[in-house]
Amino acid sequence: MKTKIAVANGDGIGPEIMAAVLRIFEANDVQLEYEFVEMGKSYFDAGHSTGMTAQAKETIETLGLLFKGPMETPKGKGVKSINVTARKVWNTYANQRDFRTLNGVETVFSKAGIPINLTIIRENIEDTYGGIEHLLTYDVAVGRRIITRPGSEQVIRYAFEMARRKGLKKLACGHKANIMKLTDGLFLEVFQEVAKEYPDIEASDIIVDDLCMKLVTRPQTFEAIVLTNLQGDIVSDLCAGLVGGLGFAPSANIGDNISIFEAVHGTAPDIAGKGIANPTALLLSGISMLRFLGFSKNAADIENALLYTLEQGVHTGDFGDKAIPSSNTNAFTDAIIANL
Ligand code: NAD
Repeated sequence: MKTKIAVANGDGIGPEIMAAVLRIFEANDVQLEYEFVEMGKSYFDAGHSTGMTAQAKETIETLGLLFKGPMETPKGKGVKSINVTARKVWNTYANQRDFRTLNGVETVFSKAGIPINLTIIRENIEDTYGGIEHLLTYDVAVGRRIITRPGSEQVIRYAFEMARRKGLKKLACGHKANIMKLTDGLFLEVFQEVAKEYPDIEASDIIVDDLCMKLVTRPQTFEAIVLTNLQGDIVSDLCAGLVGGLGFAPSANIGDNISIFEAVHGTAPDIAGKGIANPTALLLSGISMLRFLGFSKNAADIENALLYTLEQGVHTGDFGDKAIPSSNTNAFTDAIIANL
């Protein structure tokens, strides 16, 4: 019997890259059945304040797993991010982002023979993403930052468990507790408390600005890093840059009841509809989802085909040597399927 999951195509390049990934799944006979849900900017515009219909919400809650394309959030006043709302509604408190060197994706580090393999765990619900902001006067805006002990503990515990599951030796906590003594101070305090329960994992902490400097000079010294929400968001895009860019950054939002798998990148409005988007990040997220669901053989087959395709030099135009004619989304997808 097929396993049923909810799928949201998303906005911008979302439908193009989702179609590519599902075509690869089909070619590998992945035993998944998809229930497409109504979610995205057009549903927000149509008056659904959460960016999804009641039916979509019910389907996702029943199935427990959502595979989603990126969704647009207009900048500025009055509009809540559909992505942030979804993470909050379902308490997907841990955002795991895995970054590793992919053969065929040339970066300053791959050229220097330095392999990167690191995981960022970002707290996904609290911090400034609570969106508690107000104007004190017309010229003064105030934002509140919420960090709680239970909220910190659930993501930090997830990070240690993930490190253990992956057989990692080290976990670092990135923070700014030297300045934000109460908020980041609490996050760090919880990290140090939880660390005592995991003596097999070397726990350390590092101030986030120093962390950024070390990540761009010596990324190979890190295995996994746990951070609060905003700092984790910024540091993880930095890490995407280390391995070739946003087109290679997968992400999983993990909660106790519902999990959401998606790429780190957004809707890429500048290239939407042109058929040139890179589906790799969504495919890597899909591969993590297959492992999460227990489809290990499909995950390995598809991962090997992807890696082999990249090694052959077939890729979309967002990276690599622009002098070599690069393929579009469909041709890249066809090449992966041919290599399965
Ligand atoms: P973006 O990630 O969409 O694009 C940044 C740059 O990276 C662009 O030049 C884009 O063309 C390129 N890029 C991104 N993904 C690519 C891919 N798969 N292949 C090739 N190139 C790719 O970031 P942005 O422009 O800041 O945001 C656009 C919209 O996406 C905003 O509305 C934002 O809120 C939303 N967003 C959504 C999510 C999500 O759904 N999880 C995440 C981030 C941003």
